[in-house]
Amino acid sequence: MSSFSYRNGITSKGVGMKLDNYSSKSSSSFKSKVQSTGSSIRRSSTGSVGGGSKDDSAVSGRVRVAVRLRPRNAEEMVADADFADCVELQPELKRLKIRKNNWDSDTYEFDEVLTEFASQKRVYEVVAKPVVESVLDGYNGTIMAYGQTGTGKTYTLGRLGEEDTAGRGIMVRALENILAEISHETDAVSVSYFQLYMETVQDLIDPANDNISIVEDPRNGDVSLPGVTLVEIRDQKSFVELLRIGEANRFAANTKLNTESSRSHAILMVHLKRSIKGRNSSLSTESTGKTLKAPIVRKSKLVIVDLAGSERVEKSGSEGHTFEEAKSINLSLSALGKCINALAENSAHVPVRDSKLTRLLRDSFGGTARTSLIITVGPSPRHRGETSSTIMFGQRAMKVENMLKIKEEFDYKSLSRKLDVQLDKLVAEHERQQKAFQDEVERMALEAQKRVADAERNYADALEEEKLKCQKDYAESIKILEEQWAEKQEKHGQRKVKFGPVDDGIDQKSNSELSTSGEVAKIKKILQNEILLRKAAEAEVNNLRNQLTQWKKTEAARNDEISQLHKLVEDEAHQKARLEEEIAILRSQLLQISFEADQTRRNLDIGGNGELSGSLDSLIPQVKHQQPRDSGDGEKASMVKLFEQVGLHKILSLLEADDADVRIHAVKVVANLAAEETNQEKIVEAGGLTSLLTLLRSSNDETIHRVAAGAIANLAMNETNQELIMSQGGISLLSFTAANAEDPQTLRMVAGAIANLCGNDKLQVKLRAEGGIMALLGMVSCRHPDVLAQVARGIANFAKCESRAISTQGIKAGKSLLIEDGALPWIVQNANNEASQIRRHIELALCHLAQHGTFYSTL
Ligand code: ADP
Ligand code: MG
Repeated sequence: MSSFSYRNGITSKGVGMKLDNYSSKSSSSFKSKVQSTGSSIRRSSTGSVGGGSKDDSAVSGRVRVAVRLRPRNAEEMVADADFADCVELQPELKRLKIRKNNWDSDTYEFDEVLTEFASQKRVYEVVAKPVVESVLDGYNGTIMAYGQTGTGKTYTLGRLGEEDTAGRGIMVRALENILAEISHETDAVSVSYFQLYMETVQDLIDPANDNISIVEDPRNGDVSLPGVTLVEIRDQKSFVELLRIGEANRFAANTKLNTESSRSHAILMVHLKRSIKGRNSSLSTESTGKTLKAPIVRKSKLVIVDLAGSERVEKSGSEGHTFEEAKSINLSLSALGKCINALAENSAHVPVRDSKLTRLLRDSFGGTARTSLIITVGPSPRHRGETSSTIMFGQRAMKVENMLKIKEEFDYKSLSRKLDVQLDKLVAEHERQQKAFQDEVERMALEAQKRVADAERNYADALEEEKLKCQKDYAESIKILEEQWAEKQEKHGQRKVKFGPVDDGIDQKSNSELSTSGEVAKIKKILQNEILLRKAAEAEVNNLRNQLTQWKKTEAARNDEISQLHKLVEDEAHQKARLEEEIAILRSQLLQISFEADQTRRNLDIGGNGELSGSLDSLIPQVKHQQPRDSGDGEKASMVKLFEQVGLHKILSLLEADDADVRIHAVKVVANLAAEETNQEKIVEAGGLTSLLTLLRSSNDETIHRVAAGAIANLAMNETNQELIMSQGGISLLSFTAANAEDPQTLRMVAGAIANLCGNDKLQVKLRAEGGIMALLGMVSCRHPDVLAQVARGIANFAKCESRAISTQGIKAGKSLLIEDGALPWIVQNANNEASQIRRHIELALCHLAQHGTFYSTL
């Protein structure tokens, strides 16, 4: 298993050619030099990551061919006892000699020569393991056995080895190898097992399913069999069980068809899907600073083919089959031979479509898969003819070059799913928080109301009680005073009667004074008592008043709290709006990326001449008229879908975003959409044209100017839009943009927009009055041929409208507005411009100008 060098197709007399080195030790050391001849890049599939890098991810990989000799069987031991084997092997030289007669033989070299003693393990390691390892690395792989019936194809590929594990064939060992290498969390293996007989595909896992069609992906030529049973494999045991079922079904089906398995091709397809992590696959979103990973998946396929016996090619018509049947039985095998011949000879036409087998194996020979072929031969001299033709088949197959390519792609679908889940989570979380806040606010408001009501009621009750008490005390005091007064009056009256009115002496007087002063003291005391009571009542009132203000303060604090909560709710709402905006930006970026990926893929389809064309190229009006290519329909549909999801209004609103990068992204998306005629009306209806014009005025960014002007140029293809652009001051905005532009591409877009406006008959006078012609002529100082071509186109358009006005509306010929604005010197100067496009427009302009009377005199 060290490195070897090989010679191909030499005979004992002939001279061979030297081929590249090949190490079967591991697939990573399997790096042959990339062939520079065109023939080596015969077919390659698209869809690989890093689309702009052309084919540099592909490595050339010749089809490897090993030959295996079966030991003599019991019958041969007897029948051929007196004869030598028809082949002689020199394994250390990788040579096989086939005896022509007793004294002459032909010698052939192979990538590997396996004697009758070679173990199944060695055969696996030499023939199959490098292919399986490639499949684990993300390449497609093929292992195929070719040879006469009874020489050991099924023995080599399909043995289950249940009775003796050393006897396990390539299918069992390959799956064992794969299951041991993959991660069961992130990777998946599924298999299908079917046979091809008389150009009919029959499922060996579900044999009732016996008319399965082969489908080709028009974009990359990948073949698939959507009707076939696909079983996900988690462990070795279930796989062996599946093989056993397949084998039994193959046997039963062939018995029913009255044939043997040697006439059908059995094909095991192993689909491997692995996700690749930690690669440079992130789309960073500047606005959030977060990084979105579009996961990379590798979807490789291992095909193991146990072919029908090769003797059938030659012996059609045998064994009671009609000629048609026989032809059908052998069609696939002979077509395979023809394809391999064509590929070996670098022929321009390879008849891949001639049979189902060759369609199924188109990636295996001359495609992108790593392919190993094992040629099985028997020792018997009686079959020397068959053996010899088998060997020749192997020799031709060694000349077939494949271009290996990793089958990996970005998993945009899962990224989109991930974003949707994140969005749903955010929305749900936000709604939950908002509800909790509202509940809390309501609860606090209710509590505060209740407390205020309680305080008011308590205060009113206390006040009422106090009032009643005071009234009662007062009434009592009055009553006591009245009684005392009455008592005093009475006493006074009695004394008058007793002593007579005349001689009231000093005694009398002092007596009455005495009692009066006693009364006064008593009343004073009562009054003081009264005053005390009143003061107590006043204190009580004050106290209640204080309490009330205290309550009022508490209530104010509550109100503050409530308004704070309201503010929080508002902040949350803002936060939500921001998040939604971010999500829309992410979506628009995703949209942009999908679109660019679509562009890139299209460019690759067109011929992949290297340069990744920027999305702005779609703004050139000429390109706009190209039919969308069939191959891009899938991505296109997904872009349209994304665009619908994000919504035009959202995208347009992002044109006014605060973040400059977001604006750039948004205007690019709008420009890309505007390049499609179907979107233009929607964009204008949604106010997109106005927004784009506003951007010209408000933005200082040249990229924005360039992209916006390009979008306007596309929209200006349409007459209604042209009027709209004019009515919104488009000419002065475009002139202003041109005056400040440094990038010739900006000027080209502006000139293109004005040139489109020049073609509108109704706008001629206005366009000129607002300085449109002067603006066009002002741009010629840039000298860039793209800009000059647009200027010339504008002038030609304008001149055409002018001459049309003369001929159809009967306007009198006079001096052309173009000439009045001084266009003539430039026109004359450039009438022989080396750029044919400029020349053509100028010739056109001159023809139209010739209709003006004063033209010649001006000249
Ligand atoms: P094929 O599929 O090419 O028609 P089989 O695999 O059915 O041939 O082999 C025919 C017979 O030869 C079987 O009995 C098989 O066990 C035996 N045989 C084939 N190759 C070997 C080998 N390398 N060692 C021992 N027996 C073999
Ligand atoms: Mg067989």
